[in-house]
Amino acid sequence: MVEEKVSEDKTVGGKTVEDKKPAAEAVKPTKIAVIRCEIVSEACPGVGCFKAFNERGAHFENYDENAEMIAFFTCGGCSGRRVFRLLKALKKHEPDVVHLSSCMLMEGFYPKCPNLDTIRKTIQNAGIEIVEGTHH
Ligand code: SF4
Repeated sequence: MVEEKVSEDKTVGGKTVEDKKPAAEAVKPTKIAVIRCEIVSEACPGVGCFKAFNERGAHFENYDENAEMIAFFTCGGCSGRRVFRLLKALKKHEPDVVHLSSCMLMEGFYPKCPNLDTIRKTIQNAGIEIVEGTHH
């Protein structure tokens, strides 16, 4: 008995099934948010963070050109009181990663942030990856 061969090539409207894959299967852009220091934000407009992102420099060097900066916000002041609520709002937008701004991590010109561990834990509890730093 001869088995009938069933073709695996399917066509829809003259195109292969592969051609009809939904756009969602295209490369998804990496969505990035930055949390920065409220105290430093009084004197810093954030140009260094955006420059580093736009040029894919410093702590943004591993992202491709499709990556998007979807949020940029301050911690709300010591002790980082806005972080929990803003991450909750941010989750709807499916962030892949949160950067802690370089100003939160540095010591010297600005005082060292005394609440870093708590802020990191809040981000981890939200299930979002953390990257330490932006432009320095
Ligand atoms: S909690 Fe840290 S990052 Fe936020 S204002 Fe205070 S020192 Fe700055």
